Amino acid sequence: MAPHVLVIAGLDPSGGAGLIADVRTLAEHGVGALGVATALTEQGHGGVRAVNPVDPALVGRQVAALLAGEPVDAVKIGMLGVPATAAAVAAALAAARSVPVVLDPILRASSGAVLLGDDEDAGRAALLALLRRATLVTPNAIEAAALCEQAPPLTLAAAAGLAQALRARGARAVLLKGGHLPAAASPGETVDVLDAGDGPVLLRAPRLAAGAHGTGCALASAIAAHLARGAPLREAVEAARAFLTERLRTAEARGGARYLY
Ligand code: PLP
Repeated sequence: MAPHVLVIAGLDPSGGAGLIADVRTLAEHGVGALGVATALTEQGHGGVRAVNPVDPALVGRQVAALLAGEPVDAVKIGMLGVPATAAAVAAALAAARSVPVVLDPILRASSGAVLLGDDEDAGRAALLALLRRATLVTPNAIEAAALCEQAPPLTLAAAAGLAQALRARGARAVLLKGGHLPAAASPGETVDVLDAGDGPVLLRAPRLAAGAHGTGCALASAIAAHLARGAPLREAVEAARAFLTERLRTAEARGGARYLY
């Protein structure tokens, strides 16, 4: 049987990010998908207009029901909608201690829309609690800075310092995505920092046009697909980055944004 990934994420009806993009990414990797929607967003041309969270207790019950009987080889957590959903998911995951979890700690959309409620302190606390359960957390530079209550990093050294700071807050492994670092930090390249406890590893890729919708969702899902197949962490991260680089090359403009799918 093909491995299965449980996706816990928001619904973007345009399909560019969230559950639909996650399931498509998993399918491209030959991996089955189970899906729990945390929020129904209203979005289209111009970005996210509104976020309608699903009842956190319902999200928790759905995750618990799947973990009780379905094959789950990895879990990918994306947008949670409200902090209480992070707590409900953390509680449900206690029943699946050995399953790898990839946490994309989403706070805002690229357009600026709030995706984890208006109370930043509560959002940060909820993500930090969930982060302790994650095999890998995949913040961008801005999310990493917000989680550590620091200024956004301007250099690769500062990014590596932030990844370490997240490990000090309980993350087992951190992939700090470099897409939001200033271009001067790594001219011509996008550099991600992977810190799994044995020092920072810089992962380089050519800098492609920024601004495609749902890139973080696709990357985290691709990593989860490889972990579900049993790949070691670094191998899973490198294969997923290669997949995303290829997808970014072929991204298409639609409705005012660039879409991977
Ligand atoms: N909608 C959903 C459901 C998401 O999960 C996200 C981001 O993760 C977005 C919208 C915003 O995507 P982006 O910032 O890539 O445009």
